[in-house]
Amino acid sequence: MFRENIKRSMRYIGILLITVPILNNVFVYDVNPSDLDCVVISEEESVKENEVIAADPNVYSDPVVPGNLEMFPAGTVKRAYLTFDDGPSVNTDAILAILNAYGVKASFFVNNKTDPANIERYRMIAAGGHTLGLHSTSHVYSQVYKSADAFVNDFAANQAYVASVTGVIPTIYRFPGGSNNSVSPLDNSIYENILNSAGVKYYDWNVSAGDAVRPAATKSAIVSRVLGGCDSKGGGDVMILMHDLPEKKTTVEALPEIIEGLVQRGYVILPIDPTATSTTPTFHFE
Ligand SMILES: [Zn+2]
Repeated sequence: MFRENIKRSMRYIGILLITVPILNNVFVYDVNPSDLDCVVISEEESVKENEVIAADPNVYSDPVVPGNLEMFPAGTVKRAYLTFDDGPSVNTDAILAILNAYGVKASFFVNNKTDPANIERYRMIAAGGHTLGLHSTSHVYSQVYKSADAFVNDFAANQAYVASVTGVIPTIYRFPGGSNNSVSPLDNSIYENILNSAGVKYYDWNVSAGDAVRPAATKSAIVSRVLGGCDSKGGGDVMILMHDLPEKKTTVEALPEIIEGLVQRGYVILPIDPTATSTTPTFHFE
């Protein structure tokens, strides 16, 4: 039955391409105090161009080049994946500048932002060699997880929109709230099966920056939570959850120390490999 629903909904992708701008006009506040890992703010807050934090490439030294992903299969090195949810935003420029200064690639699980500045940021993410992943069109839990059809529509519109502005069709996904969220009235395996049917792989995380809290976490708190979280993994691979939202400026400020701390600990920082032969661990929640 769900496969039928998927097929039917997929036929609406063309329609959704047209309606995406409309969908984004109903982008609303989604502040759930119990959700510390995914908080979305209004679209309007993401277009304050004059608030860009410029990174100075001159203050950074030896770049850490990830090289060919095939050179780093599981168990050969300590792999670290920097991931940013909910972007793009006014902070994306500074995040990209810092990543570029260090010569590292990251992964961005993006929502649908339709203003010209953010459209350009999707393209900058892709052009920079970072991995574009899907997150949500509305990011409103009650809508995303309302039903199998609603989930397909949200996911498909997200994928179609990112493809329309970048030419890249993302095939990796992060569930709003994580794959083990308890906001869905349905068993989460239903959504997982939908993604599988669409050839899309989903990724959770095993280290959180804790930057979704309000008021904003301090820079030092974010740095210590990330590096402490990595230290607790006993040298295993780490996937780090951070947020790319206008008010998350301390996340941007913390990023250089996070990268340097990872390098000092011997991690190789890599983007998620979205290809079919990917060896990137998915870190699925139980
Ligand atoms: Zn989110």
